[in-house]
This record gives sequence, structure tokens and C-alpha cells, in this order.
Amino acid sequence: MVNIAIDGPAGAGKSTIAKKLAADLGYVYVDTGAMYRSMAYYFLTNHIDAGDEKAVEAACPDVNVTIQYVNGEQQVLLNGENVNSVIRKEEVGNMASTISVYPVVRTKLVELQRQLAAKENVIMDGRDIGTVVLPDANVKIYLTASSKVRAQRRFDELTEKGISCDMSEIEKDIIDRDYRDMHRETSPLKQAEDAILLDSSDLDIEGVVAKMKEIIQKAV
Ligand code: C5P
Repeated sequence: MVNIAIDGPAGAGKSTIAKKLAADLGYVYVDTGAMYRSMAYYFLTNHIDAGDEKAVEAACPDVNVTIQYVNGEQQVLLNGENVNSVIRKEEVGNMASTISVYPVVRTKLVELQRQLAAKENVIMDGRDIGTVVLPDANVKIYLTASSKVRAQRRFDELTEKGISCDMSEIEKDIIDRDYRDMHRETSPLKQAEDAILLDSSDLDIEGVVAKMKEIIQKAV
């Protein structure tokens, strides 16, 4: 199987790019952030204190995350229910970053991610794909952009949806989330030694997709 790992901080454009690449190359796109988000959504809706590791650990056996693909689109099922439409909010993303520090949460999801990669050609994005989940991936890319550019993209996306938001608050959220993701003990976000660094600050989506295709075609 061909496995392509894309890691990087929040808002670097990983999912948009990975989705396009997967469609063009005929691979399956695996969005691992959505899995962490679905667990976070469980803790939020069940009023489990995310700061309480023991409470999170105790609840984990009740959380069953599975994945299905409908017309090529990944759907995350949380205890059998499709939660795709409720996990994209900032609140859920921030909660995902809080609970993803716990080894009990990570072990559960890494196993699911490896199972998917073992049976399909995948483009998988996340924070620890090249370093932990798929250390033998055929291609590893670390996609990043400045926090200003990432905040601006997020601001434009929300504004376009008619959601009012504050630019400086968005940037602060992004910086806080990066800090948590990069400084946690278990599987922190970092560039794998054999990953190719790609900075998308000055590129548009098509530009990044073209560069990545070049990298992948050379390697595979
Ligand atoms: O990529 P996304 O913003 O959807 O991820 C939400 C959060 O889930 C991240 O901030 C990170 O804390 C966590 N995550 C992770 N490992 C991954 C994917 C996501 O820890 N492979």
C-alpha cells in the first residue's frame, strides 16, 4: 500500500490539500483530526471535564469511533452516529487539542489509523502521522504557514459563512493550539526527520497541490 503522511499545525491547509490530492491520485483521504474532534465532542456533550485525565480515561471505553466512506467522503461515526456536521466548530477543535495529550485517547485512535493505512492507499493528515502513526510512509510532508496567514485564512472562511469573528482572537487560539500540540509529552507535533518541509504562506491551494504532486510522483 502507498501511504502518504501530511503533518503540520492548525490551519496550514492540510485537509483542503490532502482531499484534493487524494481525489486526483485516487487515494483514500484520512482526516485524523476529525477522529480527535469526535472524541472531544463526546466529552463535551457528556460534560466530562477534559482537564481531568482520570475522568477521560474512565470514559474512553464507552467511546467507539469508526470510519466509513460515502462517495469518497470520510464520515466519522461516534457510537454509530455520523458526527461530521457537529465537529468543525472552534470549541470542538480546542477541546480536541486538550484531550489529545492523553495517551489513552491517542492509543485508541492510532490503532484505527494504522488499520486504515494497512488496507488502502492513503493520504493521511494530522500531527504525528510521519513521526508515530506511519513511520514507514512512502512520502512525508510537513505543511506549515505563518500564524498570521493561517489566522487570516480562518477569518476569511468564517466571514464567508456569515459568522462574525475577531481576527486577533483567532490568531491567539491558533498560537495556543500550536503550543499545546508542539509541547505535549505524547506524540508532539514536529517535523519528522525524513519529512519534506513545505511553507504555504505565499502559495494558493493550486500552488501547494502542484508542489505536493511533484514530490509524491518523484517518490512513488
Ligand atoms: O487537524 P484538526 O484541527 O482537526 O485537529 C484537531 C486537534 O486534534 C489538533 O489540534 C490536535 O491536538 C489533535 N490531533 C492530534 N493528532 C492528530 C490529529 C489531530 O493530536 N493526528
